[in-house]
Amino acid sequence: MNQDLEHLIVLQSQDLELKRLRQELTDAPLRVAAAQTARAKAEVALAAAKTALQKEEVLRRSQQSDVTDRHGKIARLRKQMETATSAAQITALEHEIKFAEGAIEKLEDEELASMERSEKHEAEKAQFTALLEKTTATLEAERARNANITKENTAAIAGIEAERKALRALIVESETGEAVLSNYDRISKAKGTGVSEALDHKCSACQMLVRPQRWNDLTGREHDAVIFTCETCGRMLYWDPRRDSPGSFAAGERLEKARLMGQQK
Ligand SMILES: [Zn+2]
Repeated sequence: MNQDLEHLIVLQSQDLELKRLRQELTDAPLRVAAAQTARAKAEVALAAAKTALQKEEVLRRSQQSDVTDRHGKIARLRKQMETATSAAQITALEHEIKFAEGAIEKLEDEELASMERSEKHEAEKAQFTALLEKTTATLEAERARNANITKENTAAIAGIEAERKALRALIVESETGEAVLSNYDRISKAKGTGVSEALDHKCSACQMLVRPQRWNDLTGREHDAVIFTCETCGRMLYWDPRRDSPGSFAAGERLEKARLMGQQK
């Protein structure tokens, strides 16, 4: 394989890893913020359920004291009936007693309705208490993850940056290196990657077919030093003969191997 191309495969694995590490660095605080929002929402919902419960309790206490008052009133009215002197007076008292009994019945119905609402709020309270616990745990985990990523990714980025710088310097040393490197930079800036593995007669990045003659040249020994590009996406193609041997490589393994080879050089 062309030596510049071999170096570019390693460079691309470094660039992709740097991108991933930087993306994680950007995402981690956003995940903390999202966890904070979720926890705050659970807190608000729990507070609302508690307030609603208290409101119902206050309402029922007032209903109960109202009922007690009306029972007292009925007892007084019955006492008055004992000393009533006219039929009209008795009718009026009976009317008042009936009215008070009606009011008690209505209050008791309302109390039942309030108890049903309380039951619903109790269920919400339990649900939001559990949610608050869960979101609190998530927030703690995201904070720990963020601290970890900040520390580890920053160190990893510095390490890869140093390797990358050395590799780019090495590439430029070769006769064709500068042109190849600027080509790689241009394509990867536009498309995210600059080199692509040719697999099964296709460019693995854009999935377009490599024409048979080009495939033969790419995989043959005669043009070993030539860098072929994908006619569709313009990426530089490389072909790994070991892919065709039994026990194929898992995704990423090839790049990792290349990287290790690069480090040994
Ligand atoms: Zn392509």
